[in-house]
Amino acid sequence: MNKPIKPFRPPCGDCGGRCCQYTAIEIDRPVSKTAYDNIRWYLCHTDVHVFVDHDRKWHVEFRSRCENLAVDHTCRIYDDRPQLCRNHGNAEDECEYYDSPYLHYFSSREEFEHYLCSKGVDWRFKQPGK
Ligand code: SF4
Ligand code: SF4
Repeated sequence: MNKPIKPFRPPCGDCGGRCCQYTAIEIDRPVSKTAYDNIRWYLCHTDVHVFVDHDRKWHVEFRSRCENLAVDHTCRIYDDRPQLCRNHGNAEDECEYYDSPYLHYFSSREEFEHYLCSKGVDWRFKQPGK
C-alpha cells in the first residue's frame, strides 16, 4: 500500500525566518554601461544588494526585516499574510533553508566590478580628458 504523502512544512522555527528579512525586485539583465552603472549605484547603498537567481533573473534586494516577523521568528499576521508569503516555501525546492536562491550575489560595488572584470566586460564610462 502506498504511504500517504505528507504536505511539506518548512522548518521556519529553526531557520530564523530568513525569507522574511528582505524584499527583492526583479530588474533587467544588465547589458549596457548605463545598466552596469545603475547596479554599481544600487550597491553603493547600505543594505542594498543585487543577486542573480538560478533562472538567471537579476534582482535588486533590500535587506530589511519584515515588521510582522516576531522575535521568535513567527509571523504575527500569519492568517492575513500577503499572497506572496503564502506562495513561498510551499515546496522543499522553493524554501531557501535548504538551498541558496542565489547563482550570483553582490553585496558591494567592488564585488560587482570584480565580477564584470572577470567576464571581460568593458563597464567603465570614458572620463573626460582621459
Ligand atoms: S526560508 Fe523556509 S524555513 Fe525559513 S522562514 Fe522561510 S519558508 Fe520558513
Ligand atoms: S508577512 Fe509574515 S510571512 Fe510575510 S514576510 Fe512578513 S513575517 Fe514573513
